[in-house]
Amino acid sequence: MAFDYDLFVIGGGSGGVRAGRVAAETGAKVALAEEYRMGGTCVIRGCVPKKLMVFASGYSSAAAEARAYGWDVQIGDFDWPKFRTNLHKELDRLENIYRTNLGRPGVEIFDQRAVLQDANTVKLADGRTFTAKHILVATGGTPFVPDVPGHELAWTSNEVFLMETLPKRVLIVGGGYIACEFACILNGLGVDTSQYYRGAQILRGFDDEARGHIAELIQGRGINLHVGTDVERMEKRDDGIWVKSTDGAEATFDAVVYATGRKPNSGGLGLEKAGVKLGRWGQVEVDEYSQTSVPSIYAVGDVTDRINLTPVAIREAAAFVQTVFNDTPTKPDHELVASAVFTQPEYASVGLTEEQARDERPIEVYSAAFRPMQNAFIDKNERVLFKLIVCANSRKVIGCHIISPGAGEMIQMVGVAIKMGATKEDFDRTVAVHPTMSEEIVLMKTPVRTA
Ligand code: NDP
Repeated sequence: MAFDYDLFVIGGGSGGVRAGRVAAETGAKVALAEEYRMGGTCVIRGCVPKKLMVFASGYSSAAAEARAYGWDVQIGDFDWPKFRTNLHKELDRLENIYRTNLGRPGVEIFDQRAVLQDANTVKLADGRTFTAKHILVATGGTPFVPDVPGHELAWTSNEVFLMETLPKRVLIVGGGYIACEFACILNGLGVDTSQYYRGAQILRGFDDEARGHIAELIQGRGINLHVGTDVERMEKRDDGIWVKSTDGAEATFDAVVYATGRKPNSGGLGLEKAGVKLGRWGQVEVDEYSQTSVPSIYAVGDVTDRINLTPVAIREAAAFVQTVFNDTPTKPDHELVASAVFTQPEYASVGLTEEQARDERPIEVYSAAFRPMQNAFIDKNERVLFKLIVCANSRKVIGCHIISPGAGEMIQMVGVAIKMGATKEDFDRTVAVHPTMSEEIVLMKTPVRTA
């Protein structure tokens, strides 16, 4: 049977764009449909604008530090409209690059929604239908907001990037990546920031010691963090959004931002009709090669809810192209994926937490928390944390946790060593770079505990 395309990609985010481009470079005839903006969550309303906001928000504390170092510098108010204009100019530029990169190898782009009709057919919003030998679902995820009374008053991270003015008082709900990052960003921009998290400690799933450390630091920076607290109800009142919390407290904010997780963007795509199996949370179920229950349909990225990170989606997309278009069956590698939470300071990690590791095998824990030189000089009481988890049997370093400025940059390097199977003795025989904070990673000689 002759198909209109070798590959039809639904979704122009990190995974979809990479798969479409690389497949077209093999000579395949490829189309891609995107209903919103090319680049997807990461470029348009996620990692990229978030990181630019992290940069912007860091200057308030940098100015205070500069004064302590002797600079005669005053910082005024933050001009959000000016920043927002520049931010969106930058996003337009990046979107164009994505578009150009797709066009170069000949990917045909449809700027509209596409849904599945059957195992080899997609239907566009304008009514046209196309057949394809393979279909790739790369539709990402979307913010989830629980159904609390008044939830329609809340923003998600999507709206934060578009807000007209900076709120004076904000409540962030949640304790994950997005909640902690936005709490730090808005606090740094001068917004009076509160954060409610329903559990006992933020960043569930991360290393307990690091969670406690980062919670203290962000409170030290001025975030009003309430753990064991959730929103009971919200109402629009004359002076803002009134919030009653589960601990009985009442407070009023100019904006409430829900960062309570994301769900796979799989609804209304015709997946079930085409025979594609979905999991309990709506995630597209795939095998190790990203193939769904329908052999001609594959899925990559957040819609599959494996590890919801841009670089992972890109690797899944590349492995899909190797498997399907280069005749080289390739499984994406989900082992030892490093990541960073862009709080201020950052928390970055790779491998196991102490809690996960000690349940599996005997371990040694090396950990150092200290005031780095730059802070000690100005009597700034913020400590960094460097922590290694070592398997007592193999001597391999199986986890690393860093809280410090630039931790995201550091963990990329440590990640290579750990991925290569470096032992604690390999770290030990590496000569320190002095004077740095990260030299501590090769200088910790005695375990603080074993388990
Ligand atoms: P997370 O899953 O990290 O966190 C969700 C938070 O919301 C948790 O604290 C969770 O609490 C809480 N929550 C969930 N449901 C409810 C509810 N019904 N009521 C109250 N609180 C609730 O999701 P995020 O939205 O922060 O981020 C989504 C994903 O995006 C991340 O998992 C990550 O993969 C990716 N991401 C990565 C970033 C990075 O690499 N820097 C940055 C941003 C996002 P509990 O812990 O109790 O379940």
